[in-house]
Amino acid sequence: MEGRRRPVLQASNRRYWNHKIETMPEDELKALQLRKLKKQLIYNCEHSLFYRGKFKEGGLTPEDVKTLDDIRRIPFTTKDEHRRIQEESIREFGHPYGPTTITCAPIEKIVRINSTSGTTGMPTLYTLTQHDVDIVNEVHARSFWMAGIRPGHVILQAMSLSMFVGGLPLSQMIMHMGACVVPIGVEGGTRRVLDFIRLTSPVAIFATPSFGQYLIEQSPQLIGKEARELGIKWFFTAAEPGGGNPEVRKLLSEGFGGAKIFDHTGGGHTFHAASCEEPPETYGGMHLMSGDHCLVELIDPKTKKNIGIEDGAMGELVMTSLDWEGGPFMRYVYGDIVQVFPEPCPCGRTGMRLKIIGRADDMLIVKGVNVYPEAIKKEILRFRPEVTGFFRILLDKPGPLVTPPLKLKVEYGSILEETSLASLEERMIKEFKGNLRISPRFIWVPPDSIPRETKKTKYIELDSSFSDGRKP
Ligand SMILES: [Zn+2]
Repeated sequence: MEGRRRPVLQASNRRYWNHKIETMPEDELKALQLRKLKKQLIYNCEHSLFYRGKFKEGGLTPEDVKTLDDIRRIPFTTKDEHRRIQEESIREFGHPYGPTTITCAPIEKIVRINSTSGTTGMPTLYTLTQHDVDIVNEVHARSFWMAGIRPGHVILQAMSLSMFVGGLPLSQMIMHMGACVVPIGVEGGTRRVLDFIRLTSPVAIFATPSFGQYLIEQSPQLIGKEARELGIKWFFTAAEPGGGNPEVRKLLSEGFGGAKIFDHTGGGHTFHAASCEEPPETYGGMHLMSGDHCLVELIDPKTKKNIGIEDGAMGELVMTSLDWEGGPFMRYVYGDIVQVFPEPCPCGRTGMRLKIIGRADDMLIVKGVNVYPEAIKKEILRFRPEVTGFFRILLDKPGPLVTPPLKLKVEYGSILEETSLASLEERMIKEFKGNLRISPRFIWVPPDSIPRETKKTKYIELDSSFSDGRKP
């Protein structure tokens, strides 16, 4: 496979880690993608019975793919299929990389298995060869470099270390571009993380946004210092959507004394995206940092028809690996709903930027309008401290179709007198109508009445007793 790149010591004043790829004009990138795609499809067909079956099902051979759009003739791979073939392989061959799976490389070349954090159902496994690990390290070096990290900078890794990509792989990615990593992890507890911040003086932290908020809260009482005095200049968020939420970004930046916030996603496989500093103070989405290794398509989550990659287009993410040996994706329907911005960014990078809107599984449809829990959260957070920010979406029956109005159970803030709820509600409905095109019905509950989750929060509650309307 082509494109294997070794770490190169670069002058620290260089603007891009990989100038050629990061600023490549669209036409050139597409030509590169097509060249890699043709090779990849032949490789997939030769090395995986599962993929050979996909070509048969679509009635074509890899050689029939002559343009990037021709890929649409190949049937999708779904996460459910991925789980099924993985289980079948374990039963039949005693391991998850048998010839009937998406793994194409021989077993002795597989050097790492990554996985999703397993939010829904059995985790799906991603197999990587050393060649693939090098690619993952390379594309992450681009994003750390983009944020301003240079050799000599210390990054404290405060993700869950057992979380596959947030663990050892992330340490390797940081070291690859020459920075210094402190792989402390959250497992040791908040006190230990804060102690190691004191001991190792990192300039950057890599953590979930919610753990960042927790550090801000706990720092004064645990080590007698405000988080803003800790010297953190970069905060890299991942694993939760908060890094793209203006309110959460503001909270983290202020809490850490003006730290810059950078949002990251992907990393266990061929897809990786990270935000830059443009536009300053707000959030322009994440750059696809791996455009030379990942072909992105957008599809309508319901009809599965392709949607054009145009400014502001929204759809379900489909990805195909380019120049990948282990378990390449081929039209893999990932389940994330994204909004894309293909225009070049003021930072000089070409290629698309994207915002993650939500999971396809969480999508609700209210009077023909698609709504995601994360979008609802964003609107609610605007009204802090009149609300606490904790809420649930109440459904009479499983989605995505919702009989209007959409019911939201929302905690009012402790500063709010119950008598002023009516005015708050009126202002909130106006914002929801303006920004999301829905008019929800609010069911108000006192502060601290909605359970706080330490893991991924489930915003949707199924409760038929709410179907009659407002509860007192
Ligand atoms: Zn940019």
